Amino acid sequence: MGKVLIIGAGGVGRVVAFKCAQHPDVFSEILLASRTKSKCDQIAEAIGGNRVKTAQVDADKVPELVALIKDFQPDLVLHVALPYQDLTIMEACLQTGVNYLDTANYEPKEEAKFEYKWQWAYHDRFKEAGIMALLGCGFDPGVTSVFTKYAAKHHFDEMHYLDIVDCNAGDHGKAFATNFNPEINIREVTQKGKYWKDGQWVETEPHEIGKMLTYPNIGPKKSYLIYHEELESLVKNFPTLKQARFWMTFGDEYLTHLRVIQNIGMAGIEPVRFKGIDIVPLEFLKAVLPDPGELGENYTGETSIGCRIRGIRDGQEKTYYIWNNCKHEDAYAETGAQGVSYTTGVPAMIGARMMMTGEWSGKGVFNVEEFNPDPFMARLMVDGLPWEETTGIDLEL
Ligand code: NDP
Repeated sequence: MGKVLIIGAGGVGRVVAFKCAQHPDVFSEILLASRTKSKCDQIAEAIGGNRVKTAQVDADKVPELVALIKDFQPDLVLHVALPYQDLTIMEACLQTGVNYLDTANYEPKEEAKFEYKWQWAYHDRFKEAGIMALLGCGFDPGVTSVFTKYAAKHHFDEMHYLDIVDCNAGDHGKAFATNFNPEINIREVTQKGKYWKDGQWVETEPHEIGKMLTYPNIGPKKSYLIYHEELESLVKNFPTLKQARFWMTFGDEYLTHLRVIQNIGMAGIEPVRFKGIDIVPLEFLKAVLPDPGELGENYTGETSIGCRIRGIRDGQEKTYYIWNNCKHEDAYAETGAQGVSYTTGVPAMIGARMMMTGEWSGKGVFNVEEFNPDPFMARLMVDGLPWEETTGIDLEL
């Protein structure tokens, strides 16, 4: 039993609050805090039963965070605001001696570049303080990293090739919308591609490499090689990997919109002077695009995210595929949020549960694949993200 402070009241924060509220035996008290308190209040009201308390906080400001943490005295801070706030929230946790969990690695606002180095640099300070930080505990990163660990533990003597495949075959009925924070999402998908090959990173142009891949219950979808943050920790933690790549499906319509957005400068992160004030084009674009948290109502179809792995077992080559499919409509019926928020929020709650119950424990800064995958995998089955696995198949990669 413990107290959790959730920071961020977007689509993911909503799911995390709903899912934590379902487990009073683990999360005895829940405080949901965000920049805009009214969003926290809406979520708390939808959950009902006075289960969730709310507060206002600007998570860019360490003293505000420290005051809130001292007041509520949580056992864990579960951060699902934006990656820009990772370091301020970690700093506040250090000052107050409280455990930390997030779903996306730090990215400086002025540079579209996400890397673990800034957060890994906190390891010694967290260790000395006797507290734990768990990084990247959403779906990808998060479940994909746990899937990889599970494969290493139960299916392979040595893993050689890892392909993480992420398909969203949903339809939200909008001409263009992103499934999570538009600013973070567009920064991620317009970056150059990058993958691990024979001990080094190979860079590609954005969406240069594409391939049809077949997803369970969905069928073939054009998938593009992009860089994704879990690759950085997975190649470090599984040094036998000769190759590690990440693929994501994008529809032609989505890519056309993205190209236009870039070509007309709306993906820019440098401020431009407009009528006497500085405006960041991408931040303005976020303000006019649909709110991902509002997409759920008419969202049909499903997501399918998994790991396709090739390696050696008992001297023989082995192929293995593990995945979860999640229907947007089911996610909405349960939490009022669409599938991408759901697939992120559920693992964040499970990671928090692992820390609260002590099934995962440590002092310092950790990635999820550093822990025993079994209790986490068991919780996925009962908490809304059941997984399937198969061996001896054509991985298409
Ligand atoms: P949203 O944009 O919907 O929500 C973000 C929330 O954070 C909003 O409530 C926002 O407040 C709040 N916020 C922003 N800045 C601050 C601040 N300075 N202080 C306090 N609160 C702040 O994003 P999502 O819910 O879609 O995504 C949340 C996180 O989850 C992101 O970091 C994203 O990268 C991550 N993610 C991870 C995935 C994974 O699989 N690992 C997949 C998808 C998302 P306000 O309403 O005032 O703007």
